[in-house]
Amino acid sequence: MSTMPGLDDAAAELIHAEDEHLAHNYHPLPVVIARGEGAWVTDVEGKRYLDLLSAYSALNFGHRHPAIVAAATEQLGRLTLTSRAYHNDRLGAFAAALAELCGKDLVLPMNTGAEAVETGIKVARAWAYRVKGVPADAATVVVANGNFHGRTTTIVGFSDDPDARDGFGPFTPGFVHVPFGDAAAIEAAIDENTAAVLIEPIQGEAGVIIPPDGYLRAVREICTRRNVLFIADEIQSGLGRVGETFACDREAVVPDLYLLGKALGGGILPVSAVVADREILGVIRPGEHGSTFGGNPLAAAVGLRVVEMLQTGEFQRRAAALGEHLAAKLDALVGHGVTAVRIAGLWAGIDIDPAVGTGRAVAERLLARGVLVKDTHGQTIRIAPPLVVRGTELDWAVEQLTLVLAD
Ligand SMILES: *Cc1c(COP(=O)(O)O)cnc(C)c1O
Repeated sequence: MSTMPGLDDAAAELIHAEDEHLAHNYHPLPVVIARGEGAWVTDVEGKRYLDLLSAYSALNFGHRHPAIVAAATEQLGRLTLTSRAYHNDRLGAFAAALAELCGKDLVLPMNTGAEAVETGIKVARAWAYRVKGVPADAATVVVANGNFHGRTTTIVGFSDDPDARDGFGPFTPGFVHVPFGDAAAIEAAIDENTAAVLIEPIQGEAGVIIPPDGYLRAVREICTRRNVLFIADEIQSGLGRVGETFACDREAVVPDLYLLGKALGGGILPVSAVVADREILGVIRPGEHGSTFGGNPLAAAVGLRVVEMLQTGEFQRRAAALGEHLAAKLDALVGHGVTAVRIAGLWAGIDIDPAVGTGRAVAERLLARGVLVKDTHGQTIRIAPPLVVRGTELDWAVEQLTLVLAD
């Protein structure tokens, strides 16, 4: 006896088993996935779905990309974990390749995105005290309204999303908020104790919010002139998603620190990093920061393969070309159940007309038609397909969306 419409007994049973023993910190769509390949996943009943979420861009190269699986498999047969108490024969090559991709000197490897953000904040504070000369415990970091940088207590403390922060205080002090996309507000918020400006070049969780043209260039100019570090959280926007290696490349801007994660792990395991020049990342001394798993040989082998794949430019070009194709199709939906579309490369935020229903309702109806998307902030659905998706597959997905909007 199926407890959910459209689900067979086996799927309903598996969902029930999850509900029994899992904390309810997520509200997943009612689909139980058993396999994945490229842009497609298959559920326990054998039904196929086009994955237009890509684990929030952690699957930029698709499910089980053969080149990444090969790197992981080879490494699984040799060495997986050493801790940083020893050297391993994989980490140096990964760090060198990633530093080169970023045009920087040094890499500090971590695991999750939130850890990269925490690391970036620690580095910025240490730089402020040891290099800039800010008085002890007085350093501040300027952040944007609507930000999403992860889920640790410090990070949710400078979120302005009540769902993320309410009930989890007291919070870490030292953060100053400004509206996103307003460079003048950043200028006004900076004083002699400001260590850094921390922003997403495009805000992902907020609904793919693209700042006005020239914003990133202005942030770069202000940070340089005021002796403040520019930290770009490229965890979701980076590594090919927007048709460039980094979203900062859209304005030919180079931040002082790149925060990377998600796709850096090739869809296989969590790999994150902070990448910066020696005079910044060099402020951290042995014993001051670390991670048991950060920089492990399996992560390094996977991360190196990911960087090699990005070095060809092929994925960036695909994202740019497919993104243009998708933009034309999505723009045609505005006024037909869609109130606004924002798109950068192969990354779109689509605001659903409330008359049609919520973002969640649209996501559920798309699920029934074999298309997986995730809603964010009520009325928005986000589209971030694996960059290996085909144009014809995107066309088919937009057809399904058009049908759902007309229902
Ligand atoms: C997902 C995300 C994070 C957090 O990454 P986790 O791996 O979930 O900790 C941080 N910043 C941005 C912009 C993200 O999209």
